Amino acid sequence: MSELKRTKIKNILAMAPGTEVLAKGWVRTKRGNKDIAFIALNDGSTINNIQIVVDKAKFDEGLLQKITTGACISVCGKLVESVGSGQAVEIQAAGMELYGECDPMRYPIQKKGCTMEFLRTVGHFRPRTNTFGAVLRIRNQMAFAIHEFFHSKGFVYWHSPLITAADCEGAGEMFQVTTMDLNNLPRDKKGNIDYKEDFFGKLTSLTVSGQLEAEIGAMALGEVYTFGPTFRAENSNTPRHLAEFWMVEPEMAFYDIKDNMDIAEEFIKYLINYALTNCYDDVKFLNDMYDKELIERLQGVLKEDFVRLPYTEGIKLLEQAVAEGHKFEFPVGWGTDLQSEHERYLVEHYFKKPVILTDYPKDIKAFYMKQNEDGKTVRAMDVLFPKIGEIIGGSEREADIKKLETRIDELGMSRDTLEWYLDLRRFGSAPHSGFGLGFERLLLFVTGMSNIRDVIPFPRTPKNAEY
Ligand code: ATP
Ligand code: MN
Repeated sequence: MSELKRTKIKNILAMAPGTEVLAKGWVRTKRGNKDIAFIALNDGSTINNIQIVVDKAKFDEGLLQKITTGACISVCGKLVESVGSGQAVEIQAAGMELYGECDPMRYPIQKKGCTMEFLRTVGHFRPRTNTFGAVLRIRNQMAFAIHEFFHSKGFVYWHSPLITAADCEGAGEMFQVTTMDLNNLPRDKKGNIDYKEDFFGKLTSLTVSGQLEAEIGAMALGEVYTFGPTFRAENSNTPRHLAEFWMVEPEMAFYDIKDNMDIAEEFIKYLINYALTNCYDDVKFLNDMYDKELIERLQGVLKEDFVRLPYTEGIKLLEQAVAEGHKFEFPVGWGTDLQSEHERYLVEHYFKKPVILTDYPKDIKAFYMKQNEDGKTVRAMDVLFPKIGEIIGGSEREADIKKLETRIDELGMSRDTLEWYLDLRRFGSAPHSGFGLGFERLLLFVTGMSNIRDVIPFPRTPKNAEY
């Protein structure tokens, strides 16, 4: 038994009958009769199990009894053609070893009927389920595809800091980073907290976006992208928000808003096509289990040109919908930010395809977006997706130092921490653009999962930080 090297089940399933193999994994199910047992074994390498056929007479009954759902075992034996298991081959067990028992009375993951809500309470076991195995393998492939896409275009992978002294969005809800003793805070003469005493000698937070620092990269290396954790202390318990999520933020010199839209559309289509090509088994499993239209929806997006529509036109369509009796929870009107219900109306009801909404009112967008001639709107672009709403937010950046300074003052923001950002416009300024794709929002779309907590191994949400 020890002579053989372990082969992953994904590879075993593609091997020819007759081969001797060694498989290791966790038991999904065991069934059979008094003579034969059938064990479905999974090792995480694929959604598919390998069937193990056990001639009970050849094995110790005590051992067989301990091989229950969830137990970890090693099996060697010959691959034989399979008649009824749904797979081409199965293993005729010659030897078996039990690595870890799994008391069926206490193991919380039973065969069927665990709800997503329940699985969130056993985050150390849920990756062993078919559903989370599929989702996490897709997550892995998508991460790889993101690097591949940008690498193939000559972008430089850029690491913006996670601990930052710059507040990117102005309004961003940030988590503070401190080593100060909260029970005994140092105070200055006026009684304010004295951050000079803190670890970094100033107020610092976890980043809400790597964009501002990525602009430094774009102004030197041309085209860069970040891909890393992002933190927002937004106290909203929605199925689309996490307090810790991953964001992809490309930032490109010499791209205008049109170039920005073009690459955003190409990028998303690349990722979806990659999932359909490289994760088909997992996507198909999720399609059949949860969301019968998943594959159709993914293929649909690949076929369509995304609609490109100014915000002002979008508002007109929404007002028209209201006039025709469509009920929204939140009011619609020029100047208001779109809620997810509005975004989904445009995408799912009106156009029936992804929409890139552009030229938003400047007052609902960040200070750094390029101002349009009308004095009212900025060159923003949000990519809106079926079932998700906003999946990408981006813009052409303001490259004019005067306009940028004026905007910062108008918003009552402090220029002090942004001097380096303004310097990018003072010294060798260039037109440039970029966007942020929420990695978990992409995964929601690709997996068909309906809650963002179910596409990340360890979700962080208000009042919830297990592990
Ligand atoms: P939303 O309006 O949906 O809250 P936003 O406008 O605050 O998003 P941006 O600042 O534009 O988001 O961030 C870029 C992208 O990051 C969004 O399009 C979205 O895909 C993703 N994103 C933003 N906030 C979150 C969050 N809390 N959890 C997961 N993804 C997020
Ligand atoms: Mn946005």
